[in-house]
Formats: sequence, structure tokens, C-alpha cells
Amino acid sequence: SSAPLGSSVISLVNRLQDIFARVGSQSTIDLPQVAVVGSQSSGKSSVLEALVGRDFLPRGNDICTRRPLVLQLVQTKRKPDASDDEYGEFLHLPAKKFHDFSDIRREIQAETDREAGGNKGVSDKQIRLKIFSPNVLDITLVDLPGITKVPVGDQPSDIEARIRTMIMSYIKTPTCLILAVTPANSDLANSDALQMAGIADPDGNRTIGVITKLDIMDRGTDARNLLLGKVIPLRLGYVGVVNRSQEDIQMNRSIKDALVAEEKFFRSRPVYSGLADSCGVPQLAKKLNQILAQHIKAVLPGLRARISTSLVAVAKEHASYGEITESKAGQGALLLNILSKYCEAFSSMVEGKNEEMSTS
Ligand code: GDP
Ligand code: MG
Repeated sequence: SSAPLGSSVISLVNRLQDIFARVGSQSTIDLPQVAVVGSQSSGKSSVLEALVGRDFLPRGNDICTRRPLVLQLVQTKRKPDASDDEYGEFLHLPAKKFHDFSDIRREIQAETDREAGGNKGVSDKQIRLKIFSPNVLDITLVDLPGITKVPVGDQPSDIEARIRTMIMSYIKTPTCLILAVTPANSDLANSDALQMAGIADPDGNRTIGVITKLDIMDRGTDARNLLLGKVIPLRLGYVGVVNRSQEDIQMNRSIKDALVAEEKFFRSRPVYSGLADSCGVPQLAKKLNQILAQHIKAVLPGLRARISTSLVAVAKEHASYGEITESKAGQGALLLNILSKYCEAFSSMVEGKNEEMSTS
């Protein structure tokens, strides 16, 4: 399927939500939000798009993302006849379903212009877009304007400070995962992404370094030491990616083709051999999956406690009516048992022993 992000976590989360629904628990798993930070044109929108596996974000070598785009992926039930439809809906156009993803891109551009004007203006007013699909995980991704230093067009003189404040308002949230994007053809020591991520997340617990544009580095240079964390260490490490170039975009090259080309790029360069864990969009998705699984594992005991509490309350209520509550309590115990199994399964999944866990 076309959604690498979260694919191995999706069915597990689904099963858990089903369990909660069956015991009548309001508990749900809130997955953390993922935001991209970096300089303008570092490849943030490209990375998000590649992760989602669909073309729908404005990209280019100019300021394209001029308002925060809060992208809520919403998983829909797969239809038995596989006639799945994927569509988008904007908060500002509630009644309209967008089935064509290029229309989504055009609407993002139009809505950006409506609020921020047509001349490179930037606004912190969000655009909220939901994508409904059976191939996604319920997660929120935030595409943010990049850091720029020199005002152009209608931008105010304090454009850099404004964009930094805007970015910080998202990434300071302790549940926000930060994709800190730096192009390989610029100096990592000058990375706006790492600098801001370092302020928001000084311990590096929720920052993944993403190095883009590995294909257009200076001749004779490579990103091996960057990816190994030898230049600037990062707790969760780095992933290097090759996204589509401006020419690829103009020629309408598909994400699928781009992923094939990326794979070939890494395979054909001996300098990246042995670095498979830090190379490519699928690896970035895998890393995110692992972090999400870790997160779920961390919140499960709390959810389990909430469910047992609500079961006890139900049992008490029934007892006060003088009813026999065995079946209900028995059902609850069974479900708690299933949940415990999930906790264990998650532990092994997170430790990488059992990547594609069976859900039967
Ligand atoms: P953003 O401003 O950070 O969101 O960057 P975009 O995703 O809009 O990308 C800026 C420009 O860089 C676009 O023209 C992309 O095609 C190009 N680009 C992004 N990533 C790569 C990459 O890995 N390799 C190459 N050659 N170009 C890239
Ligand atoms: Mg962008």
C-alpha cells in the first residue's frame, strides 16, 4: 500500500481502540504530533509528503509553505471490495470532499493567499486539513514555514523572529516529535533546524535529524559522518533522504518513482553501505513507527489502569442494584488479559524482535 508511515502500528492501535470501545471506556491512544522544522527550501514539505505517500503539498525553491498546515490523518475502515476512497477535507470548507489530491494542493495555495496575500506574506493562522484513508494512521503532522533571514515581498522586517516564534509554539509541546530537516549541501553547524530543536528539546528525546538533498552534495563529499552523528550527535540519530528535485516536480515524477530512485541512489554508493538504518524515507518511517510504538507502550499501563477502574465502578453499580455481575466482570477480566498481552507484544515490537506483529 502507499502509506509507509505507521503501517506496522495501525492495526495494533485499531485493535486497542476496539477493546476500549467494547468495555465502554473513553480511553483512547493519543499519538504524538509530528512537526517539521528547518530553513526555507530545506525539503520539509517534501519529507512530509514522502512519509504520507501522496502528492498534495505545495513545494518549490521559493517560500511555498506560508501558513502552518495542520494535517490530520484519519484512518477509515477498509472496504471489503477494495473500493477505498481517500479524500481530504478542509476545516474552512466543511462540506467539500477533495478526492483529487492536486485539488488539495491548489486549495492550500489559494487559502494561503487569502490569508497571507499573494506576495510571499506569512501568517501564523493555521490551515487545517484532514485526510481520510484506510492506509494511514491517526496522527497529526504539521508542515511549517521555513526560517528565512531577509524579508522579501510583503514580509515584515522581523520575519525571522516571527517565523521562529511560530515554529517554537508547535515544537515546544512535550508530545511533539520534531523532524529537524537540514540539507546535506549546507553546513550542519549552521542548521536552523538543529538549533531550534535543541532549544525546544534539549535532551534530544523527541528530535530526529533528517538530512535531505544527499544527491546534490559537493563533488567529493558525502554525508556518512553526518548520518553517523559524528558531526553533531543526536540521541535519536539521523536519517538521510533523497527527495524529488525541482525538475522532478516539474516533470510530475511520482512519489513511487522517487522512492525507487532513492533506493537505487543508496544502493549504488559504497560510502552509504552499512548505514542502511539511516538511509531513506522508508527508514525514516520505520524510525517514527518505533518511536510511536514506544509511546504507545508508555501510555498503555495508564490506559489499563483507567479501564480497570471503570470496570470496578460498573461492578459496584450493578452490585448496588443487587444484580449478578459475573458475566460483565468476566468479560472485563478477559479484555484486561488481552490488553496485558498487547503490552508484552509492544515491548517486543519496540525492541525490534517482532516487527510485523500478528494481530490475529
Ligand atoms: P521546504 O521549504 O523546506 O518545505 O522545502 P520543499 O519541500 O518545498 O523543497 C524545496 C526545494 O528543494 C524543492 O524544489 C524540492 O524539489 C527540492 N528538494 C527537496 N528535497 C530534495 C532532495 O532530497 N534532493 C533534491 N535534489 N532536491 C530536493
Ligand atoms: Mg514547505
